[in-house]
Amino acid sequence: MITADGVVQQPAHWVRTGLTFLSFPLVFSASIGLGAWALAAGWPAPSVAIITTIAVVIIVAALERVHPYEPRWSRSHGDVRTDLMHGVVSVLITPEVFKLLALGPLFIAADALSQRVGFGVWPTHWSTLAQLPLTIVVSEFPSYWVHRAMHERRALFRLHATHHSAERLYWLNAVRFHPLDTLVTFALQVSIVVLLGAGPDQLVLFSIWAMVHGLFQHGNIDVRLGPLNYVFSMAELHRWHHSRTLTEANRNYGNNCIFWDLVFGTFYWPKHRRPPATIGIAGMPDFPREYLSQLASIWRWKADEWSGQRSPGEDEHRAAAGTAEVTTPRPSRFSRLL
Ligand SMILES: [Zn+2]
Ligand SMILES: [Zn+2]
Repeated sequence: MITADGVVQQPAHWVRTGLTFLSFPLVFSASIGLGAWALAAGWPAPSVAIITTIAVVIIVAALERVHPYEPRWSRSHGDVRTDLMHGVVSVLITPEVFKLLALGPLFIAADALSQRVGFGVWPTHWSTLAQLPLTIVVSEFPSYWVHRAMHERRALFRLHATHHSAERLYWLNAVRFHPLDTLVTFALQVSIVVLLGAGPDQLVLFSIWAMVHGLFQHGNIDVRLGPLNYVFSMAELHRWHHSRTLTEANRNYGNNCIFWDLVFGTFYWPKHRRPPATIGIAGMPDFPREYLSQLASIWRWKADEWSGQRSPGEDEHRAAAGTAEVTTPRPSRFSRLL
């Protein structure tokens, strides 16, 4: 446990073991189970999502204090205000605006599609819970590829750089995304499952899965999943994705499961090593820290700057591979422009 004055006090061994191996499975299954039950009982979908989110945020924030993975990540890096603003825009506004504008037309298009095909593609006769893994795997297919493209295409990485500019991992990193990054990813995830015929309940449970998964994925909690790391894209895998070394960061693209990384060969889990505690974007020490500056970064980031400011860890990767000399990053122009 981290006390108010920053002193780390370890709970009893059996408590630590329990928190390490049980906290995620228990919170995850309780959230999904209670969410499905509440929907079946006729609770309004927004209430189910809001109550579950508040409860899980409180639990995850408490677990970070009681059972931290990296104690120094528990101390503020001056990033909380910025990340809270990302939370408001990326969780409360962007997805809701998309749903308001696009869900109606998407459901109409899905109806038209199933009538044209002559049958419903989506197994709506399955139980709500049975459909959920399918919803996750299908929604992850486009988001896997767009996430991968954002890492492998410099022109697209600017949309995703805000997320990787974080210098520590804690629960608010789950919402630290540029709104365009959120919009593109969320729109693809939702559109594909709705067009295939998934109903509104699936979207609510999808949002609960994504919320719990994202909070634990980025949470500074010492969780271990064992073989479940071949199902979830959880913290043990995602910490490598935040490495400053490109060969490690360009792995584990899964947002809500690790299935497509296993299929396409980007799964990465070196069990004999601890993921790096120093994270961020190599060569970009001056990435803007203020919210509005991060919003503007995608436009201010001119093409010529990419030659000196590479995607995460690229210089180290090039040097390790012996393919090029290490390029000393030029002083960032962000501080001047923003
Ligand atoms: Zn990424
Ligand atoms: Zn992340």
